[in-house]
Amino acid sequence: MQTPALYNLTLSEIEALMRAWGQPAFRAKQIYRQLYVNVAADPAAMSDLPAALRARLRAETRMGSLALDQVQVGDEGLTRKARFRLDDGTTIETVLMIYLDRATVCVSTQAGCAMGCVFCATGRLGLLRNLTPGEMVAQVLWASHELRRVADEGSAVSVQPSRVTNVVFMGMGEPFANYDRWWAAVERLHDPQGFNLGARSMTVSTVGLVPGIRRLTAEALPINLAISLHAPDDALRSTLLPVNVRYPLADLLAATRDYTQQTGRRVSFEYVLLQGQNDHPHQALALAKLLRGHGAYGADRGVPLLCHVNLIPWNPLPDSSLGRSEHERVLAFQRVLLDYGVACTIRVERGMGIAAACGQLAGVLPPPPSQLSSTS
Ligand code: SF4
Repeated sequence: MQTPALYNLTLSEIEALMRAWGQPAFRAKQIYRQLYVNVAADPAAMSDLPAALRARLRAETRMGSLALDQVQVGDEGLTRKARFRLDDGTTIETVLMIYLDRATVCVSTQAGCAMGCVFCATGRLGLLRNLTPGEMVAQVLWASHELRRVADEGSAVSVQPSRVTNVVFMGMGEPFANYDRWWAAVERLHDPQGFNLGARSMTVSTVGLVPGIRRLTAEALPINLAISLHAPDDALRSTLLPVNVRYPLADLLAATRDYTQQTGRRVSFEYVLLQGQNDHPHQALALAKLLRGHGAYGADRGVPLLCHVNLIPWNPLPDSSLGRSEHERVLAFQRVLLDYGVACTIRVERGMGIAAACGQLAGVLPPPPSQLSSTS
């Protein structure tokens, strides 16, 4: 039997463990604080605990249930992709992106994914299983430890934030297909007594599961919402994202409009650009009209959606007939949107060289030995 993983336990479960061990109740809060405030890498570092308790924690628990296989480094040390093996042998990936003013972790919420988006490596795997809250939280804690390790090593990354500042649930999986566990992870990361990450520092990306958008609209924590759109009409969108058959644009846009109106928050639309598929200027115009409230699909109320479009030149996958839009086409697409009054940016690309960019996570690392640092 596996030993319990501390990141898999809520505070009340740690309290129950301490009771079972005959420890005073306040020990649980000390441990919780060590895990999420001090971001201790190991029970040995929990210096306010008695030595005997530290030793017992080391002997009878684990920090998390993710076994780190490899870390692959790209973008001159600023992007780091970790592959983890779960207790049942499946693998997931997590990406840490370091910027001058922030450090962002891209977290997986499922092993594999059932959504089958045609441009995505994860979608090729199918759904292997949902991740637990502890497995999601542990990815963020890995990134925290990695940041600290990089700083201690005095590596090429000379200036960096000292802690994780942003979490994006945009890794492997569809978060809203694992809503309850995903939300438990959000609450754990947000807990002011613990990791204390602001709700506005977290972003969830969905392929467009309407029930999830409606649930998020009703939540008290103002998590940012990103929606994978990728096409301005149902016919094309259904070929790229099979989920569109179940939740077509009219339903998706209605839920999105309700979200923006009830929360007052802007939504981000992700738009992966595929050469010759969805990157024509007339498609940009159709998209602009849709978002400005002049298009079809029930969005023609004349009221612009409170939104922003994030254009993402597609990151190539092996054995795919799809193509990456040329830069001139990306710029032309953006120009049409801007001219029509739609806020629009082109995503700064990270992690392409190590298959850590959007849509490339698949739990399989290419093996350039010069870029691998074994950590197991
Ligand atoms: S893009 Fe997201 S929702 Fe679609 S298959 Fe990939 S991981 Fe799943």
